[in-house]
Amino acid sequence: VKTEVGIIGAGPAGLMLARILQQHGIDTVILERRSRAYVLGRIRAGVLEHGTVETLKAYGVGERLKREGIPIKSMQIRWNGEKHDTSIVDESGRHLTTYGQAKVVRDLIEQREADGLPIRFEAAVERLDDLEDAPKIRFVADGAAQTLECQFVAGCDGYHGVSRGYIPDAAAQSHLRDYPFAWFGILAEAAPHPDMRGFAHSTRGLAVASARSESIGRLYLQVPPDFDVNAMSDEDVWDELDRRMDDGSGQRLNRGRITERNRARLRGFVCEAMQHGRLLIAGDAAHIVPPSGAKGLNLAIGDARVMAEALRGRLRANDDRIYADYTAICLRRIWPTVAWSCQMSDTLHMFPDQSSFTTQMQYQNLNHWMHTETGQRRFRTAMLGLPYEI
Ligand SMILES: Cc1cc2nc3c(=O)[nH]c(=O)nc-3n(C[C@H](O)[C@H](O)[C@H](O)COP(=O)(O)OP(=O)(O)OC[C@H]3O[C@@H](n4cnc5c(N)ncnc54)[C@H](O)[C@@H]3O)c2cc1C
Repeated sequence: VKTEVGIIGAGPAGLMLARILQQHGIDTVILERRSRAYVLGRIRAGVLEHGTVETLKAYGVGERLKREGIPIKSMQIRWNGEKHDTSIVDESGRHLTTYGQAKVVRDLIEQREADGLPIRFEAAVERLDDLEDAPKIRFVADGAAQTLECQFVAGCDGYHGVSRGYIPDAAAQSHLRDYPFAWFGILAEAAPHPDMRGFAHSTRGLAVASARSESIGRLYLQVPPDFDVNAMSDEDVWDELDRRMDDGSGQRLNRGRITERNRARLRGFVCEAMQHGRLLIAGDAAHIVPPSGAKGLNLAIGDARVMAEALRGRLRANDDRIYADYTAICLRRIWPTVAWSCQMSDTLHMFPDQSSFTTQMQYQNLNHWMHTETGQRRFRTAMLGLPYEI
């Protein structure tokens, strides 16, 4: 099989890249290790920056998003038993949008299928060869070893993918921070309550209440890294969420059947080597953010935009300037975004053996973000996301 760009991974980065390249008339094949049903059913992020929404609309995959996306115009944070609220709408009216990653992925996959373009599910990439001049992607599908020949390889295969390993400097140029806790996430058939949302800093650990739709809630509890997601009954999970969200008002979360439970470790990771020869990597393959800033999916879309321009330059415009600068351009958005996500995490969680002094410092940070002009501007700007250079 041959194509111009071989894309490894049908997550947000790979699918968005394929969609943008399609608009530029560039041929792609997507190879995805998992089954179609698995990819469509995977529950992950849910908060889209304005720029992500505009990108999806601009490339013709924003119809359902326009109908079903729920605007987020203010952010609630609870700490020390009190609720605080701040607007996150900026001067030009930009705000965040609730729209699940599973929906973004479904919209992109269904559009690609409707356009008759190739996605090979259950095609696991095992090896990359000849990345300097004539790349070959070796994969296994239908029980047989196969090869995709291409001019460029887009490694959009997530944190545990294979592509980063083919960048010689990747390990030496990587920076990692592991947090000593995890997020236990639930999906529940419980209409999100408008007064009971956002982050709750509590001495029992962080709680987060967000929406997936008008009738489905997505909520999280900070838990130890090895927490067993089936250890608590539904009732106990709701009780614990209510305890952490308590702001003295007597208001409680709407409860409902818990339909999904998962656990995600928190880490910050940046690989500062994002290209080698004819291989470029994007999204979680190159960086991980702790989820507090809701940035993982948004960063992946940002990388895909830059990669598409880099490849368009090489393949259609005989211009390799963006390609040459690909890593540097991406890192200019990645590092500040990772830094913000880590700052949010440091401020919102209870660390093991945390002193009361540290807790007071966290309150000061939160107070700054919620109640001072400079802090509010910082919070709003960071939450809404950095502008795109490309
Ligand atoms: C459990 C979990 C919960 C999360 N929750 C949030 C959240 O609440 N908020 C938030 O902002 N972010 C969240 N994230 C992060 C966010 O989902 C990611 O940042 C986003 O999915 C990155 O997109 P991506 O396309 O780079 O990678 P991915 O979505 O990981 O896609 C990579 C794809 O590559 C495929 N692949 C891997 N290896 C191979 C191979 N060898 N061959 C072929 N295919 C391969 C994988 O199957 C996968 O489909 C969460 C992540 C996880 C894991």
